[in-house]
Parts: sequence; structure tokens; C-alpha cells
Amino acid sequence: MRNTITIRRWRIDLYQRAIYVQKQPDPKCADCRGAGHVEIGGPLNHPDAEYEPCGCWNPWGDIRIPLRLRAQVTERYPF
Ligand SMILES: [Zn+2]
Repeated sequence: MRNTITIRRWRIDLYQRAIYVQKQPDPKCADCRGAGHVEIGGPLNHPDAEYEPCGCWNPWGDIRIPLRLRAQVTERYPF
């Protein structure tokens, strides 16, 4: 089960056990123009070009909010 919500620059992923919140690249960034990465070497605009993450976001930094397990209902009701 995976559900994703995006609010402005924040992407929120809902999983069964936790919620992950991650800040996305800035669409107005002068360096990457919202792509989230900048070229650091290799042929210019080529598939073999080398990239590194832009400073406007951290692709490995997300906030994890753990969710507690729900209590299981074991009682049975007569109706
Ligand atoms: Zn950027």
C-alpha cells in the first residue's frame, strides 16, 4: 500500500507503518531549475554526464513519523 500526497515542495508518503515527509527541489532554483541535480562533469547534456544533487534539497533527508499498530478487536458482538 502506497499513497503519496504533494503539497507545494513537500512530498508525503503514507505507508502502513510510517509516514515519510521529504522536501522536494525548489522549482525556482537558479542552479538546477527544479530538476534537483546539477552536472559536474562528463559530456554536456549527454546521457553519460555526471550529476550531483543540488543544494536546494537533500534527497536522502526525510522525516519519518512512525505509526503505531492498531489494536486488534478480538471481542465478538452478538449483532
Ligand atoms: Zn536546485
